[in-house]
Amino acid sequence: MVALAPNLISQTITAIDAALADRQRPRFQRRLSGSMIGKECERAIWFQFRWAYEPERFSGQMLRLFETGHLREPRVFRELALIGVKASDIDPETGEQWTFTELDGHFVVKIDGRGTGFVEAPKTEHIVGIKTMNDKNFKELKKVGIAVSKPEHVAQAQSEMHCSGIHRFFYYAVNKDTDELYSGADVRIRYDEVAAIKLMVKAKRVLDAIRPPEPISQDRSAFACRFCKAKAVCGGEAFAPRTCRSCLHSTPALGGDAEWRCEKHGTILTVEDQEAGCGEHLFIPELVPGSQIDVAPDGSSVTYEMPDGTTWVDGIAQEAA
Ligand code: SF4
Ligand code: SF4
Repeated sequence: MVALAPNLISQTITAIDAALADRQRPRFQRRLSGSMIGKECERAIWFQFRWAYEPERFSGQMLRLFETGHLREPRVFRELALIGVKASDIDPETGEQWTFTELDGHFVVKIDGRGTGFVEAPKTEHIVGIKTMNDKNFKELKKVGIAVSKPEHVAQAQSEMHCSGIHRFFYYAVNKDTDELYSGADVRIRYDEVAAIKLMVKAKRVLDAIRPPEPISQDRSAFACRFCKAKAVCGGEAFAPRTCRSCLHSTPALGGDAEWRCEKHGTILTVEDQEAGCGEHLFIPELVPGSQIDVAPDGSSVTYEMPDGTTWVDGIAQEAA
């Protein structure tokens, strides 16, 4: 038998990964969410909310990994049922994941489940929050606890408790490599009203901000910025995509369900409208990789000096040029 070179790439495996990657349909995130709000950099949250970079595409391998996390969830509920916890992951009224919104729909939390019968407090309803992590992160969690190793998870838990009115959270964390479950004394998180309200105030600030908040660091190579998906636009190296969310004329509207309004046309914009934008789009200046040097008297165009010294005109005048 001829031995195969270990680095020979299988066409079948390559085709599977490519097929998985091809069928993904990345979408911009419509609302602020519990999983976003714990980010330290408010500017990064604003960029995400304003669709300032294209939604991420993942490799076939990463997509399989995400699916593995979802496939684990029914098993968690089976394990909880084994000890008498009555938990449900689906809202019977909608047939979908339990979902709660605040700020006129602009902030959403989707919880993994809710239930009673936990050994420590059988009568108290808890949110079930399922987290999977690799061995390195799991060991860190065991060493220093949830608040220190995963502050963004605590923020998510607080926002979920705040929006749902369920004031206990069971942190069900699994080591992906060994299937060990986290059993620290902090596994039940209590609702902290002050911390939760601070998070909602933070979300409202992001919602109301017409310009990006200050950066967490001026040095985009700093550790805090290392994995930030908005790094290019934040550092003035890239345009944001041309959608209504990056347009000066759009505003998140109050009184509806996550509605956006076009102040130029006086219309409410559907998600599809927002993705498409229109010919009268004008960039929020911080979403252009240049410095604003002029504005047309009627406000229909804005001129920028670009890093290479050329000028670039955004708006109607640009189309006429
Ligand atoms: S690159 Fe840094 S400062 Fe800019 S948005 Fe990201 S985390 Fe914030
Ligand atoms: S002017 Fe056009 S791109 Fe701008 S918010 Fe209105 S519809 Fe969207």
